[in-house]
Amino acid sequence: MVKGTVVISTENCKGCELCIIACPQNSLQLSTKINPKGYRFAELKDETCTGCTNCALVCPDAIITVYRRKKDPKAA
Ligand code: SF4
Ligand code: SF4
Repeated sequence: MVKGTVVISTENCKGCELCIIACPQNSLQLSTKINPKGYRFAELKDETCTGCTNCALVCPDAIITVYRRKKDPKAA
């Protein structure tokens, strides 16, 4: 089992939701906060990300970086 996480450059997000739609784990959501550009931005909502990179691939502005690591069996 691979565990992943994403880092989103939230100040550059335009809230298009493409990453949210593309995520097979339903790990992303739009924040209730807004960024300096006035958009609600995408954020991780839980720990279900597997690091599949779908979100990073669909983001039109390429502002998502995906990190993957082997899941710690003790943390499962
Ligand atoms: S890397 Fe995959 S599982 Fe993780 S948030 Fe992006 S689309 Fe979802
Ligand atoms: S696809 Fe990119 S620009 Fe669109 S909501 Fe997700 S992070 Fe923001």
